[in-house]
Amino acid sequence: MEVRTRFAPSPTGNLHVGSARTALFNWLYARRHQGQFLLRVEDTDAARSKREFLEEILGSLQWLGLTWDGEVTYQSKRLDRYRAEAEKLLNEGTAVRDGQAIVFKVTPGQIIEFDDAVHGEIRFNTLEIKDQVLIKSDGTPTYNFACVIDDADQKITHVIRGDDHISNTPKQLLIYRALKLPIPQFVHIPLILGTDRSRMSKRHGATAIREYRLMGFLPEAVVNFFSLLGWSPGGDREKMTIREITEAFDLKRIGKTGAIFDLKKFSWMNALYMKEAPLPQLKPLVEENLKAKGWWSDELNPAWVGQVIELYKSRAETVEDLCRQTQGLFTKEIPFDSEAVEKRLKQPGVAEILQEYAACLEKLSNWTSDQLEAACRELAEIRSIKAAEVIHPARVAVTGRSVGPSLFHILEVAGRERVIPRLRQAAATLCPA
Ligand code: GLU
Repeated sequence: MEVRTRFAPSPTGNLHVGSARTALFNWLYARRHQGQFLLRVEDTDAARSKREFLEEILGSLQWLGLTWDGEVTYQSKRLDRYRAEAEKLLNEGTAVRDGQAIVFKVTPGQIIEFDDAVHGEIRFNTLEIKDQVLIKSDGTPTYNFACVIDDADQKITHVIRGDDHISNTPKQLLIYRALKLPIPQFVHIPLILGTDRSRMSKRHGATAIREYRLMGFLPEAVVNFFSLLGWSPGGDREKMTIREITEAFDLKRIGKTGAIFDLKKFSWMNALYMKEAPLPQLKPLVEENLKAKGWWSDELNPAWVGQVIELYKSRAETVEDLCRQTQGLFTKEIPFDSEAVEKRLKQPGVAEILQEYAACLEKLSNWTSDQLEAACRELAEIRSIKAAEVIHPARVAVTGRSVGPSLFHILEVAGRERVIPRLRQAAATLCPA
């Protein structure tokens, strides 16, 4: 039988990390089995559903590469269908009218059980379940009712969703039974927890996918990191392409307990992807980020921007981090780090060293890292100082920061027209006379 999964967001907010992980697992399972991954919008709550949220959700799914099959379906367009099914139950006497509403009567004392792919057998006694509203008095269906009708109509074979829906499942099973519908395999995946093991919230980091995109996380890294939230390929494999994840994806390897969202690990993983991201992928992202920060100028030479990115990408956790580290190369103003200035520039003798280095550099025939380095070593030798005594202050003078890639590569990329005035400027204004 063809595998059919679905992602069923309610467009009442931006795509949340938990929902994105649910969408990913459904997508992976469908792709793993050459099945279908459907997208169903649960928008019966007209007051809370917003077009902008829907667009954001679809956009974030596309950004992650979680493409869906066929047309998106909307519950709000199927109200007649739900009413018709509810009326069947009315006619059979399993549901009753309560004013405008239609309510399913639950027979107490029955055992409802199902075999969850993650948790194994789960049992409920109907004593714990109240009568279920199917159609509310405003004519809209409840989630539990519409969900069953849709999952059945869409021939969903595997319902993969968060653990928080386990308590809904027996209510849905009662409806499946009453309507004699085939029951899908339920797969309840563990909730996402923060590193303190409490439910993931803003305290642990951004909760919307959009925010991670804006911070400069790469979609490949998001997919990889999210795939490991509650699932593992076995062994100590962590960095995997979406293809490798798809091939290895197996419901048996989904854990029962909470998946820990560790922002540090997420950043570490993103850094791995930054390192190998091709320039054409990074360039527009860096440009967008610099623009958002007001650090972009249209005069910047695109090839030069590429050189800056190549120089820093293996040291950056995210695009945003890369932009922060390189800000001083893009803006006229240098973002001086006060500690770095204190430690490297506000020291006796530094002004002279920087002036002398600037003077050596003015005479360079070729502005290459090799020559920049040779000039530095020569100066150090003449003055009987360590090369580091030139390198550290020069790095702060040019970039404002005490950390970064090799100084000579920075200077080469920064260019004569930035470097020499900056060395002199720092000597004149920041160093003690
Ligand atoms: N709209 C529901 C939610 O976002 C769908 C739950 C389900 O997958 O059945 O939680």
